[in-house]
Amino acid sequence: MQKYPDQPDLTDSFDAAVKVLEQNKEGFFLMLEAGLVDKFSHPLDWTRSVGDTIAFDKVVERAKEYCKKHPDTLLIVTGDHSHSISVAGTVDDNKPGDDIRDKVGVYADAGYPNYEDKDGDGFPDDFSPSKRLAVFFGAHPDYYETYRADPKKTFNPAVKDEKGCYVADKQYAGVPGGHFVEGNLPRNESQGVHTVDDLVVTTQGPNSSAVRGFMNSTEIFRVMAEALALGR
Ligand SMILES: [Zn+2]
Repeated sequence: MQKYPDQPDLTDSFDAAVKVLEQNKEGFFLMLEAGLVDKFSHPLDWTRSVGDTIAFDKVVERAKEYCKKHPDTLLIVTGDHSHSISVAGTVDDNKPGDDIRDKVGVYADAGYPNYEDKDGDGFPDDFSPSKRLAVFFGAHPDYYETYRADPKKTFNPAVKDEKGCYVADKQYAGVPGGHFVEGNLPRNESQGVHTVDDLVVTTQGPNSSAVRGFMNSTEIFRVMAEALALGR
C-alpha cells in the first residue's frame, strides 16, 4: 500500500462499509470480496493471488473482531469459484542440476519454502526467494512456465498472433530454467479460466451450524436469508 497510497485496502473498505451499514437498526448485509485473488489467477500470476489472499485473511480477522463485539452477527467466509490451482511442492534454486524440473521437490522432498516476513507486515518480503512454492494451474493457454515471480509486473501468459490465436508470450522465452507449456484451452482464450471445484465454506455466529456437509450454493443463500429474518 506504500506504493499506491491512494487505494483503500480491504480492511479500509470493511471499516468504511460497517460504519455506514451499522446505523441501520434492522441489521445489515455486507459482502466484501478480495477481487484480486481472481484477477491475478487469470494471467496465472499466482504469487499476486496469494498476496491478495493474505489481505483477505487480514479482513477476516477484522470481521471476527467485529463479531466478538456484536455476537448477533453471522460471518460466512468462502469463494465464488476456483481456478484449478494447486501447490505441488517447492522449487529450490540450490538443488543440483541445470533442468529446473529437477529443482522441484515433491512429497517429503518438498520440505519448506524460505519466505521471510522481517518487516512484520504479514506478507513475504520477497515472493520469489531461493526456495519457494511450486504452484501450477490445470486449465490454461500456451505459456512459458518460469517457476518464479516477477516483482515488477504482472505475468502475461499469451499474446494474439496474426491469425487471432493466443500463443505463449515470447518475452518469457529466455527466463533461466523456464520452458514452454502447451495449453489445453481453446486458442481464443488468452488466460486461465474459472473451474468448478468444491469450495470450503467457514462460518461463525448465529445459525452457523446450518452450514455443514456438502451443500449447494443456493442453500447458503437460505442460511443468510434466515439470519436476516427475511423469510421462513
Ligand atoms: Zn475471474
